Amino acid sequence: MKLDERGLLIVISGPSGVGKGTVRNALFQREGHQLVYSVSMTTREPREGEVNGREYYFVAKEEFEQRIREKKFLEYAEFVGNYYGTPLDKVEAKLEEGNEVVLEIDVQGAIQVRKKRKDAVFIFIAPPTMKDLLHRLQKRGTESEDVIQMRYEKACREIEMAYMYDYIVVNDTVENAADKIMAIIRAEHAKTIRTMAGYKKLLEEGKK
Ligand code: 5GP
Repeated sequence: MKLDERGLLIVISGPSGVGKGTVRNALFQREGHQLVYSVSMTTREPREGEVNGREYYFVAKEEFEQRIREKKFLEYAEFVGNYYGTPLDKVEAKLEEGNEVVLEIDVQGAIQVRKKRKDAVFIFIAPPTMKDLLHRLQKRGTESEDVIQMRYEKACREIEMAYMYDYIVVNDTVENAADKIMAIIRAEHAKTIRTMAGYKKLLEEGKK
């Protein structure tokens, strides 16, 4: 029997280059879950193969700023010259339907959600070593040495924020990291605080 009905808000975050997207893809390939990905809105240009409404909602800067004024984001951040944000209405609707809503966002965004949503679950994806992270950033081969160095220094500062999260999952292998996240989600559902409403029903039944 299921004691909790509302879906979980799961925030997956961590430094640039750590493999958040790959871990998220591995998670969604698992069977038998109710995970729903929250598609973010961004002002950056679509990359080849990206589809509007699937990877992101791609919008102009003016439209994004209008939505900021209208308080339509659960959180938003500026990352390397572009805006990225989580549309609030969609997240709420999906949670109400009982889905597990997954946000994959940067550390600045996660800090904003932490302040607003005490019931969300915060998972920090960490690299096995800092050397490993540097190698991953270099391997992408799309940025200059200067940019890689800047991203690496940013990542070092972001790692200092890991203490604010509920869980730290080391991305040693993608499958390992996805396994750990699935285990976290199951355990979170069983938390007493989340099962209170169902538990009260059990108590009432027991009194009859
Ligand atoms: P990319 O341009 O590589 O797709 O994403 C750049 C960074 O923005 C990544 O670290 C990604 O996790 C983060 N990001 C994507 N969507 C959001 C969002 O809605 N909010 C925030 N704060 N960060 C996001």
